[in-house]
Amino acid sequence: MSGGWQSNQSDVTYDAIGFATYHLEVALQQVSSNLAIQIPQIESAYKFYLNSELKALGGVVTDSESEASPSYSNSTVKIPDGLKEFSITIQVSNFHSGWGGIWQPIVLGDADSLNMLHRDKVALSVFLLGSLLITALNSLTLFFQRPQDRVPVVFACICMLLFLREFTLDHMSVLLPSIASGFVMITKINFFSYYAIIPTILYFYQLYFLKVFHTQFCRLIYIVCIVFVIFILFFPTRYFGLSLSIFNIIALVVMSYILQRMWVAINIKLRGARIMLLGSLIAFVFAVNDILNLNGVITTGRFFSFGIIGFIFCQNFVTNSRFNYLISKNETLSDKLKVRNADLVLMSELLETKVEQRTLDLKLANKELKARASSDLLTNTLNRYGLHQHIQAAFERYRRSQESFCLVLIDYDHFKEINDNYGHDLGDIVLATGAELIKDSIREQDKLSRWGGEEFLILLPDTELQGALAIANKLKVAINAKPIGQPIGVNVTVTGGVAQVNDEDTFESLFKRVDEALYHGKQEGRNRICS
Ligand code: GH3
Ligand code: MG
Ligand code: MG
Repeated sequence: MSGGWQSNQSDVTYDAIGFATYHLEVALQQVSSNLAIQIPQIESAYKFYLNSELKALGGVVTDSESEASPSYSNSTVKIPDGLKEFSITIQVSNFHSGWGGIWQPIVLGDADSLNMLHRDKVALSVFLLGSLLITALNSLTLFFQRPQDRVPVVFACICMLLFLREFTLDHMSVLLPSIASGFVMITKINFFSYYAIIPTILYFYQLYFLKVFHTQFCRLIYIVCIVFVIFILFFPTRYFGLSLSIFNIIALVVMSYILQRMWVAINIKLRGARIMLLGSLIAFVFAVNDILNLNGVITTGRFFSFGIIGFIFCQNFVTNSRFNYLISKNETLSDKLKVRNADLVLMSELLETKVEQRTLDLKLANKELKARASSDLLTNTLNRYGLHQHIQAAFERYRRSQESFCLVLIDYDHFKEINDNYGHDLGDIVLATGAELIKDSIREQDKLSRWGGEEFLILLPDTELQGALAIANKLKVAINAKPIGQPIGVNVTVTGGVAQVNDEDTFESLFKRVDEALYHGKQEGRNRICS
């Protein structure tokens, strides 16, 4: 009795909406013992009679649409032992389902075996429900840990939709008797889970392999599916059958599209594409098997539950390995970062030492530059600029605390002749040696400078004129006493001027006096000190 009553059991086609009576005479080859009849899911109201005796009941059977109430339940009817012939009468009324009648086989067999079969079916469903729930929770955990990645949450949705579908299957009414009563709600949930899962699966694949899916086409599928879902929510269940035949085509198109795209993904070597294709192939094969079974084309049995397990396993494998991949990628990155960080610390330390070294070098170079700017290279004494600073300081001390000071200007006599007679190099040596002699003869606070050419200006702080004259004479004698340039040995003479600071003095006036004193000395015949 497989197939709806409007199907082509005979030449006549019946309307699915209405009521009918099935009558079957059964003749057994031997006397019955421990036999039972299993009534499958009948999405209609039914009354089951064995030899005109009411044995099972679902919903309210009547010929008026307003009073009829369908039921989703199935049941098993025990056949009394010792019968050889009996009759089965089933009254069915249907005003709610697109398909009326009984469209799964009614099974006659050993009572224990039937019970066992039924129990196995329930056990498998319970196992499947548990697996789906755990997988959904696992995926949600992944999602909460990385909310920016939407793949796990979409996968959790797929699991929950599969859960709803499995939960609303007919044999589950054994566990939850209340399901049997809510035919409309159960039917809606059942259809909803199917209509919603197709776009969700497509979205899942699209998220995962964005590159190979066509955005426009996917969007079209989503819109169509949303229309179907809205239809399920707001239209009466009797029209669902019609929508289902259309939706099956859409589902087939989507599944084929996904398989084809997965093939492309494998060809361009996208991560996880092989396993994903395997998962969808498993689901696809089992789904096709069940559809063919339902339509009586083949009689292999219905195995979509196993398809779901295969699908979930593969997808879960991919989702988890994707997560692991991301984690290990992160770890590698953080390791690399650590190494880089250590490098950076080392480099910055190195840089600091380098900067310190450079600063030190710069300071030294600066000092050297300063020294060079205020000193004379040939004689290693101060130059004009260098001495001028000391003279200004001496002026300040004089004005502040009347600390007197003197200037001594020394000029070599006939130096042109020395150069002319013995060479310029010797002239240089004369000047350098003279500077050494002077330095050795004056105090530490006294400052010597090469004022220009072969003239030396000496600042004698805290010194009166008499003292300065004495020092200048001492210098004149020392320079004269030292012959320069072996083996020739030249003796040179110098003339010097001395002047002491007074209250009216500026540097210019003081220098003018010392220069005049020198000039006077030259005039007087050289080799002498004047003031
Ligand atoms: P006077 O006794 O009048 O001072 O005669 P002088 O020849 O020394 O004349 P003056 O002071 O005017 O001449 C300075 C000479 O010193 C001129 C120049 O050739 C020489 N001279 C100046 N600077 C240097 C130097 O650095 N090295 C050498 N070898 N000679 C110098
Ligand atoms: Mg001169
Ligand atoms: Mg001279």
